[in-house]
Amino acid sequence: MKRLYCSCGQEVYFENTYCTVCSRSLGYDYARARMVTVDALPDGRWQDGIDGRYYQFCGNRLEYGVCNGIVDSDENQFFCLACRLNRTIPDISRPGNLQRWISIEQAKRRLVYGLLSLRLPLDAPVTGYPKGLKFDFLEDQRSNPEITEEFIGTGHHNGIITLNILEADEMQRVWQKEMSSERYRTILGHFRHEAGHYYYELLVQEYTRFTELFGDPSQSYDKALKNYYRHGPLAGWERQFISAYATSHPWEDWAETFAHYLHVQDALETAAVRGVITTLPGQVSFDEQLRHWDLLAATLNELNRCLGLADAYPFVVTPGIVAKLHFVNDTIHDYRPADS
Ligand SMILES: [Zn+2]
Ligand SMILES: [Zn+2]
Ligand SMILES: [Zn+2]
Repeated sequence: MKRLYCSCGQEVYFENTYCTVCSRSLGYDYARARMVTVDALPDGRWQDGIDGRYYQFCGNRLEYGVCNGIVDSDENQFFCLACRLNRTIPDISRPGNLQRWISIEQAKRRLVYGLLSLRLPLDAPVTGYPKGLKFDFLEDQRSNPEITEEFIGTGHHNGIITLNILEADEMQRVWQKEMSSERYRTILGHFRHEAGHYYYELLVQEYTRFTELFGDPSQSYDKALKNYYRHGPLAGWERQFISAYATSHPWEDWAETFAHYLHVQDALETAAVRGVITTLPGQVSFDEQLRHWDLLAATLNELNRCLGLADAYPFVVTPGIVAKLHFVNDTIHDYRPADS
């Protein structure tokens, strides 16, 4: 994440809606990848005091306060670019759901920031998929007895990412993490993983190399998953896979690797703009980026241990995983939209 500032000079977070120093409103403009300090106009629009551009707040900000996005007022869009991806939002008349949705949107917006930084399209048509990337934030009977479904998990199908909003409950998420023997479980991690399935369909063209690295993607997905849940990962999986779940099927290995690629890019950009490392990820080779990451991840973990916290990055990136990350990097950078 790059550094963002209010026009008064105060540094602000990506999530902020107003400046704590000058109290003026802030809005994130996805089209220009910048935070804008805006002032209300009598006609309901908002204006950037520096360049005079007119904006309106995202509908989800006006109605629910769950977003800090803004859109050009002449764009005629009710929602910001990130909120336009929502297909189903939580029923906020139910207790706790608004707070859950706020946490979910924060993670989703960071995912969108990362995808746009990599110049990945959000709405590219994929054969067999209805329309770009979309999100359903759903409940099941565990949080809402009126719902017919007993269990709704997190997943991806035809470009639609489903997230059970219970993932926004800290205790529930930690319980799931322990039950699944996971090292790491976050909403952002879910989104980056599930987005990986969408981008697999869009980006991966080189199946020979893919198969060499990740395994044969044509093997039965259902069978592979059943096998994984029955028997668990093979002993010694850590040498070739970033997580136990990545061993379940080549598609899952790709999605896990894709998620880590996004984690690394975001963290390296953040470290560079804050002077922790000297170069932005785009300025050096991918091998160099991974060398930076190796040091940075160890530093992050040590800092967390200093504070009595769990490791920030509880993973080991082995040479086998590096080869897969290279493939993700090459695949993203080789992508050209169909009409270019
Ligand atoms: Zn300010
Ligand atoms: Zn929005
Ligand atoms: Zn998956």
